Amino acid sequence: MATEKNYGNPELEAKLRDRYLYTDDTNPEFLNDVKKVSRTIAHMCYQCGTCTGSCPSAPRSSYRIRLFMRRGVLGLEKEALNDPDLWLCTTCYSCTDRCPRDIAPTDVIMAMRNLAFKYDIVPRNFLKTVQLIYTTGHGVPNNDVNRSAREKLGLSRDPPTTHSYPEFMPGIQKIIDHYKLKENADRILAEEGQ
Ligand code: SF4
Ligand code: SF4
Repeated sequence: MATEKNYGNPELEAKLRDRYLYTDDTNPEFLNDVKKVSRTIAHMCYQCGTCTGSCPSAPRSSYRIRLFMRRGVLGLEKEALNDPDLWLCTTCYSCTDRCPRDIAPTDVIMAMRNLAFKYDIVPRNFLKTVQLIYTTGHGVPNNDVNRSAREKLGLSRDPPTTHSYPEFMPGIQKIIDHYKLKENADRILAEEGQ
């Protein structure tokens, strides 16, 4: 009799024991939704794993882009959108460069993030980044430690970005307002008392 492997992760082991796909867990429209938003041929994935093998996040985390491709094809919407690993893609596009089927897995991930946002499933640090971009034009604004370091290097204290040209902030805010990003980030954080 085959013995079960022990990965030291009870949740993963339970999932591996479960060989069944429950139709209740699937959304047949999920793949179409992903394709519509990503504009890539996600259904053509044949699970070769080249994307995961190319992914700089994979060796450093539990994130596996190939798993998300499979979830897309199987319509496992809740599984995909509720997995925090969805937010570990750095959008480096290595997987897209190398996919032998000319799929853009990066864009699949971006599409899934967009769909997750519709359900308010967004990590808090992403929402706080939206707020920072809205107020400063930067996800990571300059600070006094950086300013001193820049001075020592003979650079201006602030880089030639919105820090030096705040007159461009209204344009940035207009784009963010158009997509209601800041409004939704504020709402979700307020609902959670943050
Ligand atoms: S490289 Fe392309 S075909 Fe291979 S698993 Fe990734 S998305 Fe699918
Ligand atoms: S784009 Fe994202 S999923 Fe693709 S290789 Fe880079 S980090 Fe990994």
